[in-house]
Amino acid sequence: MRDPPPKFPSDPELYGDPENWKYPLDTPRRAKLARRFFSMERSRRRYSEEERAYIDSRIDSALERFGIDSEEYGGSVKDSERVPDVVFHDDVDVDALTLDDLLLHFVGKKRMESSRDIPHERIEVEKVTGEYIVARVKEYLVKIDIESRVFAHDCGDWIAWMSKKLMCKHVARLLGTIDPQVAVGILRDLYTNKGEWTFSSKPREIFA
Ligand SMILES: [Zn+2]
Repeated sequence: MRDPPPKFPSDPELYGDPENWKYPLDTPRRAKLARRFFSMERSRRRYSEEERAYIDSRIDSALERFGIDSEEYGGSVKDSERVPDVVFHDDVDVDALTLDDLLLHFVGKKRMESSRDIPHERIEVEKVTGEYIVARVKEYLVKIDIESRVFAHDCGDWIAWMSKKLMCKHVARLLGTIDPQVAVGILRDLYTNKGEWTFSSKPREIFA
């Protein structure tokens, strides 16, 4: 076994992958980073399924010790692929899909459940028009440019899954709070024109 990298802990117990001194877990910040990086496909594919489960459980228990909700930093993904909980038939009538149907598809059952724990007073809707939505959910920002089809948000879970255009609990909570007609309109368009939508992790950089 090699030496630990300089300025990192010398106790292998403080790593997600002790064998390779990877994913240090000695501080809350490092544990969050470990969760975020280890939720990425390119990090996970270097390991076997068994190794992934081992590293996931080490990272998640470190986060738990620090009192951090692992889901906000990419979540504990027990297999390397997150797929929608609900998949519709090819010939589905999109206009007949309800807000709940669409949220189950984009957000999934587990995240829908945890979204309900976000207290109403932690949602600050600054603007909802037919063109724009600007809101804060907890410490995160959500901006949606409906006309240009840009969806931007900045939590770790969003960043981990935005390439698949799957959503996090903050976005679920927001879409369940605003005018349901606006929310369902966005999700139906997203479902129909998925390729036309851009998911971004930099809400501060799109419209002011
Ligand atoms: Zn989020």
